[in-house]
Amino acid sequence: MKITSIGAVLLTPFPWVLIKVRTDEGLVGIGEAYHGAGVHQIAVDERLIRALIGQDPRNVDKLFRDMQRRMSASGFYQGAVMSAISGIEMALWDLTGQACGVPIWQLLGGKFRDRIRLYNDCHAGDGDDPASWVAKAVEVEARGFDALKFDIDPRPSTRDPYNRGIRNKDIAYYIEVVRAVRQALDPDTDLAIDAHWYYAPADILKVAYAFEGLNLLWLEDPIPPENIDALAKVKAATRTPICTGENFYTRFGFRQLIESQAADIISPDFAKAGGLLEGRRIADLADMYYIPLSPHNICGPVGTIAACHVCAAAPNFQVLEFHHLDNELWNTLTVERDLIQGGHIAVPTRPGLGVSVDEEVARRATREDLGFFS
Ligand code: MG
Repeated sequence: MKITSIGAVLLTPFPWVLIKVRTDEGLVGIGEAYHGAGVHQIAVDERLIRALIGQDPRNVDKLFRDMQRRMSASGFYQGAVMSAISGIEMALWDLTGQACGVPIWQLLGGKFRDRIRLYNDCHAGDGDDPASWVAKAVEVEARGFDALKFDIDPRPSTRDPYNRGIRNKDIAYYIEVVRAVRQALDPDTDLAIDAHWYYAPADILKVAYAFEGLNLLWLEDPIPPENIDALAKVKAATRTPICTGENFYTRFGFRQLIESQAADIISPDFAKAGGLLEGRRIADLADMYYIPLSPHNICGPVGTIAACHVCAAAPNFQVLEFHHLDNELWNTLTVERDLIQGGHIAVPTRPGLGVSVDEEVARRATREDLGFFS
């Protein structure tokens, strides 16, 4: 079997990037790359195409490294480039699974579980008052999710946005709303909080200390991602568990984070960190330090289902992000519908990815088509 073409499509309103890899035997593989500047164009960049056309798609790891080599020879292979490579890698696994007649998780070592637990990213209440946060939390919990996340981004303020400070009234506000949400939820429902890299260590620790009695699942991205030593100090200073990882690329990007145990939980995004085999490798690296895996995920159904294969095959999987509650396109983009039941996704049993794109729905949502449909 040989690869004959690679196509990409950019969807709207949410900029999901879908990848299609075709072969001379008629098999078609689908993947999804993390959205970002020009990712759908990079996916069909001549350097990547040259690494793939005429090759056997089942040599996934070799082709992954060939794509990296081709791009790094031009001086770059992370960021948007690694996102594009990740989406192609998923499509190669879809092809390999179909060719072998087994689901992708089988090729990643087999599965540890039959259902993938999701957490719903709620962002914030519909209003500023704690009651609106509580109302959203309780509504999502009633729809079957037993893990939720809210954000504590800086509110509009007059404080200098460059010094990473947090106003005392914001600290008081977020302590009040998070405590109210925690008290309204079932004690066994998990609650995570995301700080989106906004804060200085001393400031976010004031918040983390106040959260210590709330038994949070984690506090995510308390400070920027570049300085592992600084993150390790934050983690060591609080009993609130710290999660990070969505801005790290490949296992090399996770090495120092994991080896220095600077996070209690890691959150790689497989649609940008290198795809599914690299995701399994990152999971294994974390498992050597007994660190759970809770992947970041804002993909449409294709990337989310692809992530489920790694989550099924990783012993240390904890919970997978879900970002698009009540997004009709998420629910209709695959031929298979109602993928989420009671806050979980059933691990696919069909060969390959186990779902296929409803191309008519995709066509209607297309912002730019670079060979996906042709
Ligand atoms: Mg996050």
